[in-house]
Amino acid sequence: MLSWSCNRAAVRVPAWLEASSAGKHQLESLSGHLPRISQGKLLREVSSWGVGGPAKLFCEVHHELQLASALSYCNEQSIPFLVIGKGSNCLFDDRGFDGCIILNRLSFLKRLASGVYQVGSGYPFNVLGVQTANDGFTGLEFASGIPGTVGGAVYMNAGADGQETASALKSVEVITVFGMKCKISREELVFGYRSSPFQNAQGFAAISSATFALTSSANSREEQRKFLNRRKQTQPLGERSAGCVFKNPGSGCQSAGSFIDKAGLKGMSIGGAKVSEVHANFITNACNSSAKDMMELISLVKEQVRSKFGVELEEEFIYIPFR
Ligand SMILES: Cc1cc2nc3c(=O)[nH]c(=O)nc-3n(C[C@H](O)[C@H](O)[C@H](O)COP(=O)(O)OP(=O)(O)OC[C@H]3O[C@@H](n4cnc5c(N)ncnc54)[C@H](O)[C@@H]3O)c2cc1C
Repeated sequence: MLSWSCNRAAVRVPAWLEASSAGKHQLESLSGHLPRISQGKLLREVSSWGVGGPAKLFCEVHHELQLASALSYCNEQSIPFLVIGKGSNCLFDDRGFDGCIILNRLSFLKRLASGVYQVGSGYPFNVLGVQTANDGFTGLEFASGIPGTVGGAVYMNAGADGQETASALKSVEVITVFGMKCKISREELVFGYRSSPFQNAQGFAAISSATFALTSSANSREEQRKFLNRRKQTQPLGERSAGCVFKNPGSGCQSAGSFIDKAGLKGMSIGGAKVSEVHANFITNACNSSAKDMMELISLVKEQVRSKFGVELEEEFIYIPFR
């Protein structure tokens, strides 16, 4: 029996994972590569929000065979699993997760050609943003302010400042639940505003690396610093958060934060969760917030914005239920 990560409930086999996909091959023997699996790791320790109870099982993977081996183990044992990067867009349940959390630290960077970078999915996305801008390439300047991994950025199609991850992608390497490795070109993948085809794909288990193709630019360093400075001035960066809680309505054309601000909700709190005074679309863990506090405050904000402006806000982060 196959098992799936909890946020991939509505599944279908996508064309890009079917037999015709280029570069599909079985990984070498996985025996001897299973990482150490522990019990009871508190998920608040691996989430930027600092919220979440214990994971039944937990492991950390540093190379592809470890990742494939952990996935294959979960699959064979019918254990639900979830691959995470920096946990900077996840809200874990107070009861934790009744399965295996796989913390991805596949962290390598290869310069394949001028402006072409192949990067492990556990590589810090903000470091990549600074490196590529310093090398004189444009396309990932926005990444320097995003505290996630490359895998998380591809999965979420992270974006800011008019740029998004999908626009800079050339190809993605994924591992299937059958332990197959598959290279998919950007053309085969349809991304949307904060959405990727990986979010609801049957057979897909994890992103192992991404290749970006960037163009040279004389202004990349300046742009990257400008974006980062703007962030420092407008976001509560020293506080525990998951970035923007809601997607901007109208496919990103309107500002969720300005609706929340106009509704007078800045500073509103429930338990330890608080709408930031600095940026209304950030909800911070101001004082030992529980997931319940967070969810209640999020519901209240949605309700107020709906009743005052008739606008339906949609969550941008991923809620990970216990089961
Ligand atoms: C201060 C702050 C600022 C932020 N600013 C922005 C911003 O400007 N723009 C923006 O888009 N986001 C922003 N974010 C949100 C977040 O950083 C991004 O969504 C980021 O891309 C998530 O990466 P991660 O590695 O932390 O993913 P995680 O939170 O660990 O995971 C998110 C989802 O991706 C999946 N996933 C992660 N890695 C893999 C993998 N290798 N294979 C398969 N699935 C995987 C997880 O299962 C989960 O469903 C911000 C967050 C914070 C805290």
